[in-house]
Amino acid sequence: MTGNAVWYPFTQHATEPVPPVVTRTEGAWIETAQGRLLDGISSWWVITHGHREARIMAAIRDAAETLDQVIFAGLTHEPAEQLANALTQVAPKGLTRVFYSDSGSTSVEVALKMALGYWRHAGDGRHRIAVMQHSYHGDTIGTMSVGERGVFNATYEPMMFAVDSLPFPEGDGQQTLDAFEALARSGQMAALILEPLVLGAGGMLMYRPAVLRGLREICDRHDVLMIADEVMTGWGRTGRLWACDHAGIAPDILCTSKGLTGGAIPLAATLASERIFQAHYSTDRTRTFYHSSSYTANPIACAAGLANLRLWGDRPMQDVLDGLAAMQAQRLARFADNPRFGNIRQCGTIAAMDLNVPQGGYLAQEGPRMRAHFMANGVLLRPLGNTVYLLPPYCVTAGDLDLAYGAIESYRPA
Ligand SMILES: *Cc1c(COP(=O)(O)O)cnc(C)c1O
Repeated sequence: MTGNAVWYPFTQHATEPVPPVVTRTEGAWIETAQGRLLDGISSWWVITHGHREARIMAAIRDAAETLDQVIFAGLTHEPAEQLANALTQVAPKGLTRVFYSDSGSTSVEVALKMALGYWRHAGDGRHRIAVMQHSYHGDTIGTMSVGERGVFNATYEPMMFAVDSLPFPEGDGQQTLDAFEALARSGQMAALILEPLVLGAGGMLMYRPAVLRGLREICDRHDVLMIADEVMTGWGRTGRLWACDHAGIAPDILCTSKGLTGGAIPLAATLASERIFQAHYSTDRTRTFYHSSSYTANPIACAAGLANLRLWGDRPMQDVLDGLAAMQAQRLARFADNPRFGNIRQCGTIAAMDLNVPQGGYLAQEGPRMRAHFMANGVLLRPLGNTVYLLPPYCVTAGDLDLAYGAIESYRPA
């Protein structure tokens, strides 16, 4: 049945095999025509509770009985209103306004536009954006511009805008804080955008909550807006609902998408503080936030988001996250003196380690080789370069994890 009209994402058609056809998903598992796969990366980090979580799927079915897409300018609907109110209840303090879009990238584009709009409407010309080395914020031109430059986006370099980059925080992150302090003092910085605690696509790189707190303090001191891109880290991945919760901070703008509907259906939201909203609130129509996407606030997606939020209220989610974190820690510990792996790290439910490889072009071959090995062992894992990581759905069992870690242990570099 596999034809050839589809152009797959992040796929080199010249070298990669025809992908297996998925026929069904359930819990932590993906069924294909060739057999079952354990979804060790939550289908690119979106599935939180598990595939086809019963209450979320029921909410989708129910919503579809009465609503489909309706224009969201000049009209509204209950699922969007209820979800927005519920989000502001669980979000870090002070985020009072919810703007809907449909993907992580669009939620970041919205955040950047809100930040620029804030300063423009405040009559301040600052427009520079500070970013963190190794960051990833999406694949659109704007989000690539604020992300790490490299092989994935070099082709589009002429179209990208300039940003100011902070070194990735090592240890206590003092170098990063000093670099940011110097930039912030210039009075040119509109916003700092960052992935709190874990840089996902950059290689599951982790830094301390104290650094995040330090960056927040500098933002406060020099009036720089903080944009927290919680698209990956949100909904429990780091062991708390939001990564920002570990540092006890609130950003001025927060982006959420992947786990917002439990991963069942696309939806994104950009949460803003009242100050950002008020800068756009005016009888002067030029201050309107002129942004929308066709499918903004899709009612079925909002109903799924609401069902997800209710699950977070009804289930002992903290126990679930703590349990998974403990299971990951036990298994990671076995790699402590494995000479093939190093830089073993964990943040909440996310576990990562680096395959020790000699430096050089060699590295490029190990990723696809590892992926094929894992597939052959019934596990879906997609190493980032030489970094192997597990970011499983929360319903994953100890036995499932043993299968995944066993596949990692049995890998032998070329
Ligand atoms: C995945 C991701 C995005 C982009 O989300 P899409 O839904 O793929 O557009 C943005 N930021 C972070 C931190 C991400 O992990």
